[in-house]
Amino acid sequence: MQDCIFCKIVRGEIPAKKVFETDEVLAFDDINPVAPVHVVVVPKRHIATLNDAADGDAQTLGRLLLAAKSVAAAKGLAQGGYRAVVNTMAGAGQVVFHVHIHVFGGRALRWPPG
Ligand code: 5GP
Ligand code: ZN
Repeated sequence: MQDCIFCKIVRGEIPAKKVFETDEVLAFDDINPVAPVHVVVVPKRHIATLNDAADGDAQTLGRLLLAAKSVAAAKGLAQGGYRAVVNTMAGAGQVVFHVHIHVFGGRALRWPPG
C-alpha cells in the first residue's frame, strides 16, 4: 500500500472534492488552485511520474487524458479553453509523486508557461 497523498485520496483516507470518477481514474479540485477552475486527475493505480509509465500503462494514461476532457466539459471550459499539464520531476514543479494531469482554466492562460 502506497504512502502517497493521492493514493490516500483514492482510498478515501484524505477528503477531496470529487469532480469525476471511473473505475480507473479520479478527478478532484486542487487544494491550492492557480485558476478559477483547477482540477487534478489521477489514475487510481499508483504510477510515480510520467517517466515510470510503461507500455502496459497505455490504457490508463489514455483514460486519464479522456477524464481530463470530461472534467473540462463538466466545468464549462470545453469551448473557452483550458490547459492539461503533467509536471514531471522536481525541475518542472512536481511535488506529488503520483502521476497526475492538472486541468485548469477560467482565466487567460499565457504561453509559454513559466
Ligand atoms: P504537482 O506540483 O506535483 O504537479 O501538483 C500537485 C498538486 O496537488 C498541487 O497543485 C497541490 O496543490 C495539489 N495537492 C497537494 N496535496 C493535496 C491534497 O491533499 N488535496 C488536494 N485536493 N490537492 C492537493
Ligand atoms: Zn500514489
